[in-house]
Order: sequence, then structure tokens, then C-alpha cells
Amino acid sequence: MTDTAENSPIDGTVLVVNAGSSSLKYQVIHPGDEEVVADGLVERIGETTSKVTHWYRGDEVKRECELADHQAAIALVLELFQDSGVDIAESGLSAVGHRVVHGGRSFSQPTLIDEKVRSEIERISPLAPLHNPPNLVGIEAVSKLLPDVPAVAVFDTAFFSDLPAEAANYALDREVAEEYAIRRYGFHGTSHEFVSQLAAEFLERDLADLNQIVLHLGNGASASAVRGGTPIDTTMGMTPLEGLVMGTRTGDIDAGIVFQLSRVGGMSIDEIDKLFNKQSGLKGLCGENDFRAILERVEAGDEDADRAYRVYLHRLRRYIGAYMIELGRVDTIIFTAGVGENAAPVRADSLADLEGYGIVIDPERNAVRNGEPRRISADDSRVEVLVVPTNEELAIARAASSVARSAR
Ligand code: ADP
Repeated sequence: MTDTAENSPIDGTVLVVNAGSSSLKYQVIHPGDEEVVADGLVERIGETTSKVTHWYRGDEVKRECELADHQAAIALVLELFQDSGVDIAESGLSAVGHRVVHGGRSFSQPTLIDEKVRSEIERISPLAPLHNPPNLVGIEAVSKLLPDVPAVAVFDTAFFSDLPAEAANYALDREVAEEYAIRRYGFHGTSHEFVSQLAAEFLERDLADLNQIVLHLGNGASASAVRGGTPIDTTMGMTPLEGLVMGTRTGDIDAGIVFQLSRVGGMSIDEIDKLFNKQSGLKGLCGENDFRAILERVEAGDEDADRAYRVYLHRLRRYIGAYMIELGRVDTIIFTAGVGENAAPVRADSLADLEGYGIVIDPERNAVRNGEPRRISADDSRVEVLVVPTNEELAIARAASSVARSAR
């Protein structure tokens, strides 16, 4: 039997879609009570064997099959829902929320997708050639299969769209910068906004009164300085390549290295792009980007892993210092994402020896592991140091639901 909207667990939920070049992640979430009804991942789309993991209300299904493109992947996901008795097109979904990486100068808010919005996302795609095209493919594929459900684009750049001029501009010829839309946009905005708001709730403080440093440390990593809920600086720039050392990305690098690799190394721009984005960062330094393995190797005295760890920390501490100065007074430092939420040594080492600045970590609190927001600073620390688990899917679901509601 298929559910009707009235008795369906899908009624009022949001389908959150994150389409990558060969993958599709999705969740079905109740934005109100935060319940995750379904969760899934399709990998290796376009290859001979695609892998699908689909979880719906406690039941997990795994499949391997050939899926030519995102359209086929989404059709299969809808079929898997159908197998559980849910016709998702008829079950009362309130919205689809699409993660879109780059909003350029055009989008500073979650936006209801229509033909004009779709073509604008396409127009700015050269700014994020690895990310926006697959995001668009996801949008098109879902809209074909769920044409009656409002679709909302939630942009990674939106939170940072009003960065002050001194943080948003590169010291580049102004005409060239204008012509090619070169400026600092910032990314991971959905996460930085979500955890900075949640930190204020956790501390029972008014967001407007807080000066915060947010450290989103995942495979991709970025930091931001947030004053009263508004970001004044962030480490990622025109693309997600700038800033902190990441799993496979360089972070900040002397642009002169591009000239050297091209002129002396004879490398093409595409090769340099791949080197900087996929073969650098921790992976480039020590052959590995899984932080658990790196920490084990550091512990065992591995020289390459130790160097990688020190380069990573050096960059991170440099930005923490910079943001302390930019903010003038810091109330909270927040760790989030895979490394930030789980790697206690990274938290301890990145804030070591800063007692003079009012930052003191409590080792016992820092060692606690759970999925809740928590304080890891000592009682006598002037700055509150927190671990706040991020939840970008929930943030997207809330934003999509609210845009869809106001569009009705
Ligand atoms: P992204 O969303 O950017 O792909 P995540 O936020 O999922 O990344 O973070 C992935 C990173 O988190 C990986 O480097 C992984 O090794 C690290 N990580 C996950 N769990 C742990 C842990 N227990 N200790 C150390 N690092 C961890």
C-alpha cells in the first residue's frame, strides 16, 4: 500500500540534495522536529558500477547497479522509496533544498528556483567549475521527477556575501577583477552560520553580543570571524582553494608557484588545478588525508605525518591569531566538522599556550566525545571554546522550507 500525504511520514518534510560530480547525497528531514526520515548516498554515477546506500526509517538497502547519470540515480532513489510504500511525489514533501556551492554576486539568500535562477546559476558556473555544474544537473534531474515540489537553492557563499571590502577584495588590478568577477566569496557558509547561531543558543547569549571564531575543519576546511552574527572575514576566497591546509587542497599558496610549474615544469593549467585541489594539502605532504591515520602516524613518530601535522597547525594558528586581532575581543572559538568535532589533539594543539590571551582548554572536557554541542574550555578561560557539531542538511532543510512557505 502506498502512503497518502495525510498519513505519510514524508508529509511536511524537505528533500535535501547535494549533487557532486559523480555522487548524490540526500536526506529527507522534518525541519521542525529535526527528525531524519531518510538518508542516502549514490556513488560512482556514470561508472559501470554505481553504489547506492539508502536508509529509510531504520531500514537500510544497499545496491550496486549501473546508473548512467544523475537523472537515473534520482529515479532509482524514488524507486527505493516506492519499495517502502512511499510515492515521494505524492507524499507531501514541502520543498526540495539543493546545496549550490557558488552563488557569485547574484545570490545572497536561499532562493526559489525558476528558469531565471537556473540560468543565472549556470552563468556563474565558471567561478566553480568543479561544483556548480553537478549542482545544476541535480536541480534539473529532481525537477523533472518532482515538478510540483518547490525547489530552493541554498548557496555555500551566501553567508559571506556582505564581507567588508577590505576582506572581500584581492589586491589586483580593479578592472581585471571586475571583468572576471574576481573577489573573495567564502564557502561553507551554511555551516559557519549554523554553528555560530547554535553556539549562541548553547551559551544562552544573544548572538548580536558575540564575537566568534568558527573553525570548520573537515576534509575541506575554513575559518571565519563572525561579529554579532555577521562574518567580517573568512579563509576561503574566490574558490574553496584558499586558506587553511585541507585534506587534498593547498590552502594559501604563493601564486608565483603557478608560474614556476608552468614555465619550468611545463605543466598545463588543468594539471596545476588538479595538483592544487586533489594532490596537495595533507595528502600531498604525507600521502594521506584521513586525519585519524595521520594522528596515529604522528603518535608512532612518522616524520612525514609529523611535518604535515605541523604545517596544518601552523596555518590554523596563524588564522586564529589574525581573527583575534580583527575581532578585537573574542568571546567564543568553535570547532566543527569531521576533524573539529572528533580530533581532540587538533583542538588542544591549535589553542596551546594561549593562556595569556584568555584561552584555556580543559583536557578532560576536550577528551569527551559525543554528538552534542559542548564546552571544552576550562572554567577560568575568558574565551568559551566549544565543539558544535554542524548539520548542513538541517540548515538547508530549514532554509528551503521557509522560502517555500513564503512563496506559497
Ligand atoms: P567533508 O564534509 O569536508 O568531506 P568531514 O566534515 O566529513 O569532511 O570530515 C572528514 C575528516 O574528518 C577526515 O579527514 C576524517 O579523517 C576526519 N575525522 C573523522 N573522524 C575522525 C576522528 N575520530 N579523529 C580524527 N579525524 C576524524
